[in-house]
Parts: sequence; C-alpha cells; structure tokens
Amino acid sequence: MSGKPLIVAIDGPAGAGKSTVARRVAEALGISYLDTGALYRALAFYLDGRDIPPAESESLSRALEEVSIDIDGEGVHIDGKSVGREIRSPRIDGIVSAYASLPMVRDRLLSLQREQGERRSIVADGRDMATVVFPGADVKIFLPATDEERARRRFKELESRNEPVRFEEVLEQIRQRDRTDSGRQTAPLRKACDAVELPTDGLSIEEVADAILALVRKTSK
Ligand code: C5P
Repeated sequence: MSGKPLIVAIDGPAGAGKSTVARRVAEALGISYLDTGALYRALAFYLDGRDIPPAESESLSRALEEVSIDIDGEGVHIDGKSVGREIRSPRIDGIVSAYASLPMVRDRLLSLQREQGERRSIVADGRDMATVVFPGADVKIFLPATDEERARRRFKELESRNEPVRFEEVLEQIRQRDRTDSGRQTAPLRKACDAVELPTDGLSIEEVADAILALVRKTSK
C-alpha cells in the first residue's frame, strides 16, 4: 500500500469480540492487526511477576524504564521473551485494569502503539484507540455488547482452554473490568464522538467484520 498508512481503530468493552473481528478485518484488507490489550496484559504479567503492585511508585517507575517491550507482528516480547497464553489467564484478567489505569503505564505504551500506525497500515483494537492513540484514524468503530453476552463468550473461551471458572465469576469480573476501564481518569473507555457504534449482540463475527469492511471501503473511495 502506498501513501499514508490506513488506520482502523476499534474500541469497546471486555469480551465484545473486538480481537476476533479486528483480526478478520485486517486479514481481509491484507494489513496488520495490533492487539493493544496484549501490551497491557504483558506489562501486567511482568509487573505482577516482580511483585510490583498497581500503584505509582519508585519501583514501578524503575521497572517501566528498565523493561523492554517489542511488537513483532501480532506477538509481544518482554525483555526479548515472547509472551503467550499466560497473559490471558483469569489472574491477569483480574489485575490488568488496575495497572492500565496508571498514567505511568499508559505513557510507557503510548509511543510504542503510535509507531506501529506510522510504519504500516493497521487495524488496532483496545479502549482508547479512537480517542487517544489514533485520534486521526481513517475509520473509528465502537463495539458494545451486553454484559451477559460478553461473559458468555469469555466463559466459553476459558472453558475451551480448560480454565476452571464459574459463569458468575466471569460476569462479575467483566463488570469490574468495565467499571475500572470506564471510570479511570486517563484515557477511559469511551466512544469517540466520530466513531460508528456497532452493537454486536446477536451478530456473527462475519456480520460485524463485513459491516466494518463496508465502512472502510466507503471511506477509502
Ligand atoms: O483487550 P483486552 O481485554 O485484552 O485488554 C485487557 C485490558 O487492558 C483492558 O481491560 C484494559 O484495562 C487494558 N487496555 C487499555 N487500553 C487499551 C487496551 C487494553 O487500558 N488500549
């Protein structure tokens, strides 16, 4: 692709199907997918593993300076090591938002995300893609879904990975994560005023992806 890279920004609450849809849209367009949740998860995993609690402190500041974080395609590397499924455990689900609400943590990841959009065309998903990271994105999408629908999807995913969880726990964790992500001071989860809202309840992944692709095609005409 020539000229300015295309940026498709997708925001929404936990479990709305953003990553599956974003990956599919990226594939259809032949461009890269940027999973910004994976960056926050990887950093939470790293900090938790070093017993650094989610509060602004000297030790957090030092760890953020020292750690190296790289994006390689869809993969994230922390201090040269690739992170995998360990960042998607119920433990990380439970603690990631507390770390992500800290301005120090968000600052650390901001330029890393922006660089990706300067280098190549991307479909990026997260909580502040259209509002903070890529306010000039070509297409902005907000994907909501009811709490129950989102908890059902997350529960199924955890079940398929043999993670022992109860549905009620998953539902409560999703609601707690929404409260923290929407209630924080820095870059809270919000629909950008110029984003198109596509509620995903009752829609298949293909239907949501097709709706986004239609918007991308309309914009690039
Ligand atoms: O998208 P995912 O559910 O993997 O994101 C995990 C967490 O990372 C979110 O609940 C949120 O706290 C944080 N996050 C964020 N901003 C982003 C992406 C994720 O604060 N752009």
